Amino acid sequence: MTCKGICTRYKAQKPVGTGRYASGQRRCQICEIFIKWEGLWCPCCGYRLRTKPRNLKYKAKLRARVEADAAIKVQTVETQQVVKIDAASSEFVKETLETAVSESWTKTKTVAELRKSEGMTIKKARELVKEAFEAKSKPIAIKA
Ligand SMILES: [Zn+2]
Ligand SMILES: [Zn+2]
Repeated sequence: MTCKGICTRYKAQKPVGTGRYASGQRRCQICEIFIKWEGLWCPCCGYRLRTKPRNLKYKAKLRARVEADAAIKVQTVETQQVVKIDAASSEFVKETLETAVSESWTKTKTVAELRKSEGMTIKKARELVKEAFEAKSKPIAIKA
């Protein structure tokens, strides 16, 4: 079964606004061409013509699965990044907060430093700063 070049006579134009199969065109896998032909067999090579897109359901399923996988991967990466930042930053955050308290930074400056280095949200930075300053100020208050 080989293409004899006859199929080009039946070559179908790509329809506008609809699919090739939907508009009655058939595809020959051997000639790799869409033709306008009523028969089941290619008038050129004699191979069985395709009247439906192959594995349409399977393809749709596959696409859905690939998309789902991609979504999961993105999610995983995001989660990992968050975890990594949390783990790596806890030391840094602690140090920053300790420095801030010992060097009497203002809360605003400390928040700004945390946000600058850690990309932390202002809310989270403020919370941490508040905690750190309150924790440190208590013993001082007792001493005084
Ligand atoms: Zn052909
Ligand atoms: Zn053919």
